Amino acid sequence: MQQIEFDTKWTMVVDIDKCSGCGSCMVSCQAENNIAPMEDGSNKLKTLTWMLVYELNNGKEFPERESAYLPRPCMQCGNPACVPVCPVVATTKDEEGGIVSQIYPRCIGCRYCMAACPYHARYFGWFDPIWPEGMEKALSPKTSTRPRGVVEKCNFCHTRLMDARARARAEGMDPNKLPDGWYKPACLESCPTGAISFGDSKNPEHKVHDLIKDKNAFRILESIGMDPQVYYISRRDWVREQSDNHLPKDKH
Ligand code: SF4
Repeated sequence: MQQIEFDTKWTMVVDIDKCSGCGSCMVSCQAENNIAPMEDGSNKLKTLTWMLVYELNNGKEFPERESAYLPRPCMQCGNPACVPVCPVVATTKDEEGGIVSQIYPRCIGCRYCMAACPYHARYFGWFDPIWPEGMEKALSPKTSTRPRGVVEKCNFCHTRLMDARARARAEGMDPNKLPDGWYKPACLESCPTGAISFGDSKNPEHKVHDLIKDKNAFRILESIGMDPQVYYISRRDWVREQSDNHLPKDKH
């Protein structure tokens, strides 16, 4: 599939060295996106974790052992493997910033996209969502709930982009040139350590424009050409090597 460059590129940058692995980003993601709590979070068949924090370690024994935490949303790839395999065009690359959308009513649940995604960032709802009594009152009115039988994933809290654009229009500004910080996904807002940055990496006035050029910045599985819009930063060599899944011969 031919890759198209858009004027705006919504980009997330996660500083792994700042992440404490607390999981706040996972919790706020679930609340923001109306993901019902799971009876057993360890049951991978039943869990929907659009944002998932992985634990990494350097493979050494105490006292040399070190750990790191890698939060993984959907990478909103520039060359999304999930898009061309969808037989009903239920997932597309959004021209207004490159977010890979998921159109729930169109999805037929074939799960080709899940098989194609090298980041395991897509989830299939095997069961109808059930909220404990009273909790349904806390559902976000802005985000649709999904029935069983469709695939879902992180969309960088797309409704927040719509809100930010509406606010810009109301204030007589260009909705296609949002100031830095106007559009923030829920995970960023809840992170207590400030590990997550977000913005338009094509706009020099946005912090992420420079962050992605940091000498310690990298993307996961960069070598297979997915061109993800999620970057990571770590000053630790072993983290960069593991996260990038490099074979020894690929060492940089
Ligand atoms: S909220 Fe921040 S510190 Fe906590 S796991 Fe997520 S990225 Fe890491």
